[in-house]
Amino acid sequence: MSAGELMRRFKPWLDDLPAYVPGKPAVGAVDGKLSSNESPVPPPESVLRAVAAAATVLNRYPDPLARGVTTRLAARLGVGEQCLLAGNGSDELIYLLATACFGPGARVVVAEPPYLVHEIASLAAGAEVVRVPLAGYRHDLAAMARVPADAAFIANPHNPTGTAVGRHDIEAFLRASQARLVVVDEAYIDFADDPDALSALALIDSGRVVVLRTFSKLYGLAGARIGYMAGPGDVVETLKKLRAPFSVNSLAQAAAAASLDQPSALDEVRDSMRALRERMAQAFRRAGYEVIPSQANFVLVKTPDETALLERLAGIDISARPGSVLGMPGHVRVSVGPAHVVERLERELVP
Ligand SMILES: *Cc1c(COP(=O)(O)O)cnc(C)c1O
Repeated sequence: MSAGELMRRFKPWLDDLPAYVPGKPAVGAVDGKLSSNESPVPPPESVLRAVAAAATVLNRYPDPLARGVTTRLAARLGVGEQCLLAGNGSDELIYLLATACFGPGARVVVAEPPYLVHEIASLAAGAEVVRVPLAGYRHDLAAMARVPADAAFIANPHNPTGTAVGRHDIEAFLRASQARLVVVDEAYIDFADDPDALSALALIDSGRVVVLRTFSKLYGLAGARIGYMAGPGDVVETLKKLRAPFSVNSLAQAAAAASLDQPSALDEVRDSMRALRERMAQAFRRAGYEVIPSQANFVLVKTPDETALLERLAGIDISARPGSVLGMPGHVRVSVGPAHVVERLERELVP
């Protein structure tokens, strides 16, 4: 068959699908890579030992449902195991939700700018995506609720702004919106000052809410690829049928289970990340920039000249994420770095 005869046919809506643009690699030492909201702290020893032990049985397939992880989560969160599903990062779960729940003809409402994976997965499934501009850098839930939509994504705290909405705001959204599925992505919830006042976990009983969480941020397991969802049993059941059976590898399962066995090991990391976040924000403010108050492990800095700020940061071996690739031109997103990088920022980012 010649190339001319091979008329490959993709689903028509894939022609205009935007590609996800990942953060740039480190400019100098890897410690200065502040472009992907990773943890600057490697996982604790106990987690590394669990991974090494799991590596001795890599000739075997993993547990398809990562039950070592879901039983621990069920106990910890007070959620039934039939309402939990682990995924190859929460990104896999976002794609599964989109594939299972929306297709051509469905309308999904997101913030403008959204977390781009929410939008790309929805478009890839064939849905129409309606963006509703943020108000004061926060989700405008009242305006989002007015959109006649089948589903909604709410990142809480939001990426790329770091702002949060309260659980009561999400409850009000549920009352006002016709969306039958509301996906609340809580990737950064651990860094919020009062996670309990924000989390939508208590709302999954409504039958309309799915909460996504990840081990990629606070737990320092971004490279292992594991996240989870808590949601209505029928959604979990359907996703189990749809998913690739062994998508969560055994090393990731071992790492996540060991992390959950040692919850206090991460308290120090979380406290230090919150403190470093405030120091970074102060350093930028002292240098004359406006910084959006953040509840996540990054800060969003406002600047009339993105390139100039990115170059200034590159000059002190920091690579950050340009707002223009995140749908926020005129801003730069900087992840919270390790203490010595923050100290250098404080010393060298002078007005
Ligand atoms: C980082 C991030 C995730 C995490 O994705 P993983 O696939 O679990 O690494 C999910 N949602 C948002 C909003 C994020 O910023």
